[in-house]
Amino acid sequence: MDKLSVLKQYFGHDAFRPGQETLVDAVLSGRDVLGIMPTGGGKSLCYQIPALLLPGVTLVISPLISLMKDQVAALTAAGVSAAFLNSSQDLEESRQVWSAVRREECRLLYVAPERLENQRFLELMESRDIRLVAVDEAHCISQWGQDFRPSYLKIADFVSALPKRPVVAAFTATATARVQEDIAARLGLRDPVRMVTGFDRPNLYFDVQRPGRKKLPALISLLSERRGRSGIIYCATRSAVERVCETLEGQGFSATRYHAGLSEEERRENQDDFQFDRKQIMVATNAFGMGIDKSNVSFVIHYNMPKNLESYYQEAGRAGRDGEPADCILLYSAGDVATAKVLLSHSEQGPEPQELERLGAMVDYCKTDGCLRGRILEYFGQPHPDQCGNCGNCRGVFTEADITIPAQMILSCVKRVHDKLGYYVGATLIVQVLRGGHGHRLKELGLDGLSTYGLMAEEPRERIRAYLDCLEVKGYVYTETEYSTLRLAPQANAVLFHGERVSMTSRVERKIEPVVRQKRERTASAPADEGLLSALKAERTRLARREGVPPYIIFSNAALTDMAAKVPRTIDEFLEVSGVGQVKAQKYGEEFLAVIAGYERENKIG
Ligand code: ADP
Ligand code: MG
Repeated sequence: MDKLSVLKQYFGHDAFRPGQETLVDAVLSGRDVLGIMPTGGGKSLCYQIPALLLPGVTLVISPLISLMKDQVAALTAAGVSAAFLNSSQDLEESRQVWSAVRREECRLLYVAPERLENQRFLELMESRDIRLVAVDEAHCISQWGQDFRPSYLKIADFVSALPKRPVVAAFTATATARVQEDIAARLGLRDPVRMVTGFDRPNLYFDVQRPGRKKLPALISLLSERRGRSGIIYCATRSAVERVCETLEGQGFSATRYHAGLSEEERRENQDDFQFDRKQIMVATNAFGMGIDKSNVSFVIHYNMPKNLESYYQEAGRAGRDGEPADCILLYSAGDVATAKVLLSHSEQGPEPQELERLGAMVDYCKTDGCLRGRILEYFGQPHPDQCGNCGNCRGVFTEADITIPAQMILSCVKRVHDKLGYYVGATLIVQVLRGGHGHRLKELGLDGLSTYGLMAEEPRERIRAYLDCLEVKGYVYTETEYSTLRLAPQANAVLFHGERVSMTSRVERKIEPVVRQKRERTASAPADEGLLSALKAERTRLARREGVPPYIIFSNAALTDMAAKVPRTIDEFLEVSGVGQVKAQKYGEEFLAVIAGYERENKIG
């Protein structure tokens, strides 16, 4: 069999995604590889296809039990013999795996890196024909990465202990050059074929919204527009997770939660509820992460701003792994900056300068009125067009207003406060002074005696904040990173003393109209019949229950959407659907065809 038949027969795909073929070819020709592809880019197939074409067993090193389980379930459903060995198994289960490996009845064996230190395991491996060792989530080997795992450092020793050196293939979604170098060096890769595909995820829609103090209502309205879809809500703190989850449940949403403060058992249970679509919304801290391979996550909403763009892109990127359109929305408020700083302060000195710099880039992302996708790609050093056409700013409608007068008021307030105190203060205090607030600190410092006190008493806090952000983006003021004080830039003088005019563009907030969204959704094939699609989904749920696997293991949303568009009537036509391989067609073909036939009868189509 060749690589394309394996791709079609087992996985049901007609073509490779960018980068996949190069990596598969390299491995098959005996070269080490380093594959850097975004989340959802399809890294697994890069070692799974060679595993099916090479003799012997392929060893896959994976950091988490949940990831192994998921992959093995997906492979098994596709008719590939695969197994894992980990601490969650009882003696009988692991004995079965061992003997399957001995009988060469297992093409892919997944293990955690800790297993490599086990003497008995090493002996078993020495007696097997191992041609390929695949290291998934390879950034775990680097201290510079987010999820350093010391036991990943043992992989190189393990590989060199084998009688014949296998091909070593490493995969990660982490982009930075430093981590890439680390992976190659520490795994001892030999002149690897390096494949870095673009980091853009065209199916993800990015947006930043600023609901001010009305975050919870804003969240609820976003969720109401997305009923019936599965999504993750990330919060900065455990208490926020608790509060948000409770509110959502009170409003009738199907939500569960995850954070490090819950018992291991509860975390596992909640994660399963989400994974198996028993609960639609997961409210979590960033502790909920890497183990998530759920492909049908249709939105990721950040209730708070994360501490840097790396984290943001990684978390937001958990949406739309199946290639379907998905939304990544960040609800930003000025308070998030302070929270992020607290979370970054591991020591008494507060955050490291480098962390503050990364935080600064994150804040810039929240404040920009330029292309959001462009900002992210820029940050990762990737070329991109000026406008992506699929983010909140590219699709937004902007109005332009002259704000010279409020700008003068704000800038002179910053100046007066500085003149009086001899130092700069934060934006919050400036806004309080302008609005004529009665805060304790304000009185103590005597700021209520200034001529700018109460000058903007009529303006809502959010509007003054928006003016301030605009002044910052335009370079009239800047935020000093260490203490977050708001400072005047030299350019402010032009407005204060020389009559320079200031204008502000602001986005007219409006919901993404359904018509526009549909256009975006219907890129690949003919439009899918929504009624048929939900009938197919119901069938998938039924089969998933019957087999005790998460629904996306049966078929991804992308596969169902394609099915609803192609409306297959025979098994041959069913095999044409993207994501339908031989085994799945055999296992589920009749049942899905029956659903399609039933639907057509009821609706008198065809
Ligand atoms: P990664 O590990 O890079 O995050 P996965 O290997 O989990 O990504 O793949 C993500 C999704 O992409 C899966 O649902 C998989 O079925 C799908 N996929 C992978 N390769 C292809 C392909 N060539 N054509 C269509 N879908 C693909
Ligand atoms: Mg993966």
